[in-house]
Amino acid sequence: MKVVVNIVYDAKGPIVADQVYKLAREKLPHISLGTVYRNLNRLVSSGMISETKVGSVQCFFAHPYSNTHLECVKCGRLSNVAYELSLQQISKETGLDLEGYELRLKGVCQECASKGS
Ligand SMILES: [Zn+2]
Repeated sequence: MKVVVNIVYDAKGPIVADQVYKLAREKLPHISLGTVYRNLNRLVSSGMISETKVGSVQCFFAHPYSNTHLECVKCGRLSNVAYELSLQQISKETGLDLEGYELRLKGVCQECASKGS
C-alpha cells in the first residue's frame, strides 16, 4: 500500500508501527492497525523497508540501499519515488545475494510537461 510506503520513506529515521498507523489514518481514516502491520511486514519481506528493534520496540525504516529516483530529462530534477521491487524474488530468479538497488527512472516532470515546449 502506497500510503504506508510513503510514510516510512518520509520518516527521517526508524518509525514505530503505531506512528505509521496514526499518520496513515490521516490519509485513510478507515485503515486498521492490522492492515498497517500486514503492509509493513509485506514491505519488509519484499526488501523495500527494514525492521529493527529499539529496546523491545519494533521499528521500521526505509532501506538505505533501495532507492528509486525519478530524473527529469529536461530540467534534471531528481525526486524520490516509492516503487516496490521485490529483491527476494529477483534473488530467487538470479541467484544473486542482493542487498539493495538503485533505480533511476527517466522522463519529463510535471512542471516541464505543463510548459509544453
Ligand atoms: Zn523537469
